[in-house]
Amino acid sequence: MFDPNPPLEDIDYRGACSFGNACSIAYGAVTPVAMPGILKDVPSMLANPLAHLSIQWRNFPELIPWLLNFIRSSKSDRVLEIVNELTELMRLAEAGISPLLQESGSQNLIRNRECLYLYKSEEKFQQAQYGLQLRANQGVRIETLDATQIHEREPHLTPVYHKGVLFLDAYSLESPYVYMKNLANCILQRGGKFVHQHIDEIVTGNDHVQLRSQGLLSEHADQVVVAAGAWSKKLLHPHDQVLLNTERGYHVMFPESEKLLTTPTCYPEHGFYMTPMMDGIRSAGTVELGGLGAAPNLKRIEVIEKVTRQLIQGLGPSGDTWLGHRPSMPDSLPVIGQSPHNERIIYAFGHGHLGLTLAGITGRLVAEITGGYTLSKNINALRPHRF
Ligand SMILES: Cc1cc2nc3c(=O)[nH]c(=O)nc-3n(C[C@H](O)[C@H](O)[C@H](O)COP(=O)(O)OP(=O)(O)OC[C@H]3O[C@@H](n4cnc5c(N)ncnc54)[C@H](O)[C@@H]3O)c2cc1C
Repeated sequence: MFDPNPPLEDIDYRGACSFGNACSIAYGAVTPVAMPGILKDVPSMLANPLAHLSIQWRNFPELIPWLLNFIRSSKSDRVLEIVNELTELMRLAEAGISPLLQESGSQNLIRNRECLYLYKSEEKFQQAQYGLQLRANQGVRIETLDATQIHEREPHLTPVYHKGVLFLDAYSLESPYVYMKNLANCILQRGGKFVHQHIDEIVTGNDHVQLRSQGLLSEHADQVVVAAGAWSKKLLHPHDQVLLNTERGYHVMFPESEKLLTTPTCYPEHGFYMTPMMDGIRSAGTVELGGLGAAPNLKRIEVIEKVTRQLIQGLGPSGDTWLGHRPSMPDSLPVIGQSPHNERIIYAFGHGHLGLTLAGITGRLVAEITGGYTLSKNINALRPHRF
């Protein structure tokens, strides 16, 4: 595995999206980010850089093709197709992740079962019904809770909630970073290698591929898998066009507060999860279409901290903060499959909000492609050139 920041390097690995996510394995997350009606939100996404879904003006021209397809993907018939595809992936996700947890010795990292979504008014609850119904139609198990039940379950939440729903087919991990380290150690024990190199280019020959890094070429290989998250676009075959962009997200840690919450909890209107984990409570999320190069927007971090303090009573001091780059496609579906221009190049990126949940099934599909085995599922909808 070639990576300038492999998961065994404590400090540098913070750059990877897998370091700081919201820790949720969310099998019920079968609805895309672009839902019907998103078009009317675009002006406010542009006008308010602190909205939980926002676009940075600086990035707007470059973003236009992605944004147009994001809006196209929000049409209700297309949303139904995406929901079906995500559901198929989710049905295989548990079988994908279980061996990874088991074989890397990470089962003890499973912390909370279930996940709670809260709504502050009947109006907000009703607005959520379309998405909830789409999920329920696919067999996602959802339980509705009233304010008393929420209070009994989570007494430290400020009672600004009106109703909530519990997703039963979800769990969270104590730490996605410890999980990554466990996986990396497991790879090492099985003879895998980590090479600390930034890859500049894939060079293809008639019967091989090579990687170029700082002007030097690697040994010949039969195949290469591009799984560089939001940075994967730089490693495409030169004739491939993939509409990959990044949805930036943030986290704020509250290191002494994990006892205040038992269930990962999200108010969709604020766009972030509050997840109790090994290191405290992590408030993680929001979407900022802001590109790869820009510095974090510290005001967004302030907003996440301020709102978390409003939502959880007795929260201790805040700690670590983080900006992560989700590798995102306009239709919220990942890219998994061979380059149409060279079958020796296999793509596995673009998992957006679901990379932790879908990593196992992605790995399985990639192994099936590289080994020439029958695929666990048809991956036509995930092809790189679908736009
Ligand atoms: C705030 C937030 C909350 C989230 N919460 C959840 C959640 O609860 N559940 C969930 O399922 N998902 C969640 N996600 C999404 C999930 O974290 C991502 O989808 C996932 O981490 C992407 O993994 P990846 O391996 O594709 O990319 P990354 O983890 O970003 O890894 C990419 C790697 O590629 C390397 N790389 C880059 N360029 C090169 C190069 N040229 N050569 C070699 N190596 C290179 C990088 O160093 C990095 O190590 C969240 C994301 C965010 C931002």
